[in-house]
Amino acid sequence: MEMKEFNNIHQKISILGVGTWELSENVSENVKAIKYALDNGVNFIDTAEIYNTEPIVAQAIKGYDREKLFIASKVWPTHFHYDDILKACESSLKNLGTSYLDLYQLHWPNKSINIRETVSAMEKLVKDGKIRNIGISNFSLEEMKDAVSVMSKYELASNQVEYSLVTRDVESDGIFDYCKENKISLIAYSPLSHGKIFKNDGLVADISSIGKKYGKSPAQIAISWLLHKENTFPIPKASNLRHMAENIEAINIKLTMEDLSFLSELEQKYHFEPISKTHKKT
Ligand code: NAP
Repeated sequence: MEMKEFNNIHQKISILGVGTWELSENVSENVKAIKYALDNGVNFIDTAEIYNTEPIVAQAIKGYDREKLFIASKVWPTHFHYDDILKACESSLKNLGTSYLDLYQLHWPNKSINIRETVSAMEKLVKDGKIRNIGISNFSLEEMKDAVSVMSKYELASNQVEYSLVTRDVESDGIFDYCKENKISLIAYSPLSHGKIFKNDGLVADISSIGKKYGKSPAQIAISWLLHKENTFPIPKASNLRHMAENIEAINIKLTMEDLSFLSELEQKYHFEPISKTHKKT
């Protein structure tokens, strides 16, 4: 598995991560799928306190060398006051059966709590060795700049945002460029549009027209398109072994410039609104 520099502290992680929101109810199959990913070179797993999947990740990572893993979780915005963040982190550590998180992310911005207070709690967690990197998620460009401006001891590692070949708002709203210029990694969530890409027959046919050339599925081509983007780490979710194995195989695809530009044009035809546009902000 290819590894890529994660952020400006020169840490390398697998170019493909694993998402864990809304895993199926078959926990043993979920665990099997995550273990398969770990056995095949993926070391980056994304979860969140709100997903209720931290205990599933705990089961999956048991027995693996913790130092080789990159475990990311998120704190929900109602917990953004100083003491609440510290408590939420303790609870995530307990759920995950680990003594530290590689990345702790502010799940959504919360305008009702001063970002300075929130960030200072995150910095305390780094200082205390509970987390290694501070990330954000669903922050707009302005919100990201605000977070960066109040960080006093550490640098922002990442912004996790919705990004797929049919949801490319991060390219036009300045987030992609700002992240690249400032060595803030971009974690691409819902790379398969939360499964919606498979429900649009025209889109599936268009992606498949490229997939056929490489003998690859639409899911693999959609993930590969993101893997060709610099500074970007897609985190598809797969509840079962078959989907997980298929997704990991996407790392071996090298798309031609011509095919990449065909795929890039699909957004104009099919654009899917990012959930951040419809989400009621706290
Ligand atoms: P996604 O990864 O875009 O799509 C998942 C859907 O695609 C599921 O229905 C899955 O089915 C299906 N799938 C996966 N691999 C497939 C394959 N090879 N062939 C056919 N279908 C396949 O959706 P997501 O879960 O929204 O996003 C991924 C991760 O990003 C999340 O799990 C979470 O970690 C993160 N995320 C973060 C935020 C945030 O606010 N920060 C928001 C959304 C997501 P099965 O489950 O049956 O395998």
